[in-house]
Amino acid sequence: MSQVSQDRFSVHAQPLTLALARWQDGPELFVSVQGEGPSVGRTSIFLRLSLCNLHCVWCDTDYTWNWKGTAFAHRNDRQTGYQKFDREQEIIHLTVPEVAERLRLFGVRRLVVTGGEPLLQQEPLWHLFELIYDPSQKWFIEVETNATIVPEPQLDSWVGQYNVSPKLANSQNPDHLRLRTDVLRWFADCPKAFFKFVVEEPGDFDEIEQLLRPYAIPEDRVWIMPQGTTSAELDQRLSWIAEQCIRRGYAISDRLHVRLWGSRRGV
Ligand code: SF4
Repeated sequence: MSQVSQDRFSVHAQPLTLALARWQDGPELFVSVQGEGPSVGRTSIFLRLSLCNLHCVWCDTDYTWNWKGTAFAHRNDRQTGYQKFDREQEIIHLTVPEVAERLRLFGVRRLVVTGGEPLLQQEPLWHLFELIYDPSQKWFIEVETNATIVPEPQLDSWVGQYNVSPKLANSQNPDHLRLRTDVLRWFADCPKAFFKFVVEEPGDFDEIEQLLRPYAIPEDRVWIMPQGTTSAELDQRLSWIAEQCIRRGYAISDRLHVRLWGSRRGV
């Protein structure tokens, strides 16, 4: 990379950095197949960012927020020997040019930015998207989000698809944190946004319907996914999810990566 390119992303006193989840000796940055939602099965690079503004009790990436010394609740807290995570150990800070360099090496041009909550780090992200831009090999960028933060225009211009996952009461986040009407309205009006709900009980469907109604979000933009980190858990929920989805016109999402590799990091 030229010095000129490097300097464009070092206009601040410090170079712009991203807080990524740490995996083994480096960042959680890997090629896999999208396992959930409308792009299921597509080979993609996954960029897992650390930090989240919600704290879902069933979150399967709680190493992005469930820090030692915090009072956040997680179901794993009940497991014997389970320990919350050391924030310093779990986050790796990389500059935007460093992340761009790593992305280019994969040779894949489909990127899924996931977390944690990626929209907590919008400015370095849009600089990253600008830096990797290549007119001869255009990227398709998916951003996953919990629907609590509106994307900035500078970020939105690079994004091809939002996988929007508003959290239901089953996440046990306080309503005022998980339900942001202005943000839901923004995504409802954005044709690039697809909605994915994590369900645990049949009663969750009524909650989804109530949540969608004020925004007139059509059924064909809605995916329903079972909560579960094992094939057995997914199987147990998918049968009644299928019945409800057929009746209500929603799409079903399995969790393909869990089927293939179990509940592991970096897949
Ligand atoms: S919003 Fe996503 S990353 Fe954040 S706690 Fe919930 S499931 Fe985990």
